[in-house]
Amino acid sequence: TALALTGCSSERGGTSAGDETAAAGGFAADATIGVALPDKTSENWVLAGDLFTQGLKDAGFNPDVQYAPASNTVAEQQNQISAMVTNGAKVIVIGAKDGKQLGTQLQQAADAGVKIIAYDRLIENTPNVDFYVAFDNFKVGQLQGQALLDGLEQRSGHAAPWNIELFSGSPDDANSGVFFNGAMDVLQPKIDDGTLVVVSGQTDIQQTATQGWEAENAQSRMDSLLAANYGTAAIDGVLSPNDTLARAIITSINQAGKDITKITVTGQDSEVESVKSIMAGEQFSTINKDTTLLVEQTIKMIGQLQRGEEVDVNDTEQYDNGVKVVPAYLLAPVIVTKENALEAYANVPSLLEIVKAAS
Ligand code: BGC
Repeated sequence: TALALTGCSSERGGTSAGDETAAAGGFAADATIGVALPDKTSENWVLAGDLFTQGLKDAGFNPDVQYAPASNTVAEQQNQISAMVTNGAKVIVIGAKDGKQLGTQLQQAADAGVKIIAYDRLIENTPNVDFYVAFDNFKVGQLQGQALLDGLEQRSGHAAPWNIELFSGSPDDANSGVFFNGAMDVLQPKIDDGTLVVVSGQTDIQQTATQGWEAENAQSRMDSLLAANYGTAAIDGVLSPNDTLARAIITSINQAGKDITKITVTGQDSEVESVKSIMAGEQFSTINKDTTLLVEQTIKMIGQLQRGEEVDVNDTEQYDNGVKVVPAYLLAPVIVTKENALEAYANVPSLLEIVKAAS
């Protein structure tokens, strides 16, 4: 499906329209495109920045790619987006640090006719976000939930019930709730029927949150959970929303002297160290969200905007940002375990090499 750009047809009817490009809703083929990314804490963000710089250049655009700095991050990202508008960007792609705090900057963008594409993370509580492009986040969560169940079955060495703990991502990231809800869609019925026991009793998103997606926060929460609940009880598994946190959780488990090869820890992002860990039989699973594909799709959408064409979307229902349902293009995430790693990374040479070296 495709979604028509608003405002094209009415302008086209005007007799004074001498500029075909403007009349079609497009803009110059060498226009500046802003890309505002949240941080460099996950490998996918680092890669995205490099791919946008190169890909936008190759497509003839003038890329302005910026990361929010580690301190004063939200305010600095707000400033970066404002500056992109002032400097004449025609489209701004945003991986939001805090998706609820960009209302003022996006109003400024809308007033200047700048199109906004929310990248990977939804931007909330504003009408001024035109498109969303991401991997299907709910599906990511469901795959993580299923992987946890599979791992418990394969590694724990005993039948249900299994003792588990739950982690979710940063509360300022709209994805965190979607990942968690996707996972709980699979896990909640198993908690209800007694297959799974969350020994700490911490099952809601506030209790399980990991501020800033910071590894140290996950590690210290895991330390506390183990100390308070797993003196004698065995821990069988942990739902971790991404790889950075998974490795922090595994560090905590190792430090507590428990055998990680019998414990299932999930992940996401296919980070190099986690792929190695999976091949070594430590971390159980990750998710492959091929950043190359996501950046390619985004640049394709920017090209469609540039030419004043309809922009491809394949979901117009799921992503309600509190003000509107943002038309989205969602890509399919892939679950990866040791078992299917060769196949899952067939098109990712750097990871394939790691898998081959370990097999
Ligand atoms: C992304 C994940 C990433 C996390 C932390 C999320 O919004 O979708 O891929 O692990 O942010 O950077």
